[in-house]
Amino acid sequence: MMTPSLDEILEARLGDLERAGLLRAPVVLDGPTGPRVRIGEREFLLFASNDYLGLAAHPALAAAGIKAIEAYGAGSGASRLVSGSLRIHAEAEEAAASFERREAAILFPSGYQANIGVLAALAVEGDVIFSDALNHASIVDGCRLSRAKRAVYHHCDLNHLETLLKREAGKNRWIVTETVFSMDGDAAPLGGIVELANRHGAFVIVDEAHATGVLGPTGRGGVEESGTTDSVDVQVATLGKALGCAGAYVTGGRRLIEFLRNRARSFIFSTSVPPVAAGMAIEAFSLVDREPERRDRLGENRRRMAEGLKRLKSLGAGAFAGRSAIFPLVVGGNERAARLAGRLYEEGVLVPAIRPPTVPEGTARLRLTVTAAHSGEDIDRVLNVLGRSLAGAA
Ligand SMILES: *Cc1c(COP(=O)(O)O)cnc(C)c1O
Repeated sequence: MMTPSLDEILEARLGDLERAGLLRAPVVLDGPTGPRVRIGEREFLLFASNDYLGLAAHPALAAAGIKAIEAYGAGSGASRLVSGSLRIHAEAEEAAASFERREAAILFPSGYQANIGVLAALAVEGDVIFSDALNHASIVDGCRLSRAKRAVYHHCDLNHLETLLKREAGKNRWIVTETVFSMDGDAAPLGGIVELANRHGAFVIVDEAHATGVLGPTGRGGVEESGTTDSVDVQVATLGKALGCAGAYVTGGRRLIEFLRNRARSFIFSTSVPPVAAGMAIEAFSLVDREPERRDRLGENRRRMAEGLKRLKSLGAGAFAGRSAIFPLVVGGNERAARLAGRLYEEGVLVPAIRPPTVPEGTARLRLTVTAAHSGEDIDRVLNVLGRSLAGAA
């Protein structure tokens, strides 16, 4: 028998995805991201990005990036530990630590790399990682890379978490959770998690990807909102979402950061972030404090969207948490979600259909996000289009 060619194997696999309604292809935007984006000659309203504060297109951020390129060049040349550690990296790490009011920080090229690096370095053989059932793929992959045992607790369920913690007494135990869940928009009970961790002698790792810049009186995320900054052992945050640029950082105690510099493989074996990203990060931290009105506007937009969606719920849009800038409209079937997204596209509104494996089977959804850059009219327009599309699809 002839062995199939690579193309034949992949064609069969792509066919499976297509039949399951799971084939995806990115839309390509002809210009910067923002509340309004262009595809070819056509303008769309975008309700999909994680640029919550509308910083991605901020001129000051771009200017800081250009200045960094002028001072340090385009590339960084190597891993931080080889020869790629530039003064601007150290400055960005100092800015991150000071922004988060922690002792120290370490930059990673992305949040994905931060999570796999942190989990695989900290949780070693014999340890146990307690991971929320809805944690992000990068956390799941970090658990897979780690040699520790993994115990998955029901989503945000403190009782279940405690039951599992008790079963593993006497070991190093690591609880890991997102603070705002990326596809559901609800928030972890950080106060309760920290309390359990203290009671059982476990450590807490939080991923603030969708909370940094958004939650808390000064935008320091879920830890600030819940008053747990000093009780969380390891804090992961991303620079590519509300902070508008690219990359990620981990903050915590000085020893934690020194250890990660020595043991986080996704830090050690990866070229350091380019100067442009470090320079933009420094400016982004400053902008969060200099322009607090962005957080206020985000809050207003969030309320407007939440109220509008509540009215739409009677049309069968399903439940949503409304706890953050993320609004999931769970519709169930993969094809139904894709069809709805297609209908919105025809009306000039970009909202992605989120399907497995990003979300559990049977919970395909439209995931709407609002940013500080949307106007009230933008939100009213999307609600209007949504109402018509949902009514048509019922
Ligand atoms: C986006 C995201 C990441 C990954 O961050 P990148 O910088 O985009 O790689 C990690 N965790 C969560 C919860 C995320 O939503």
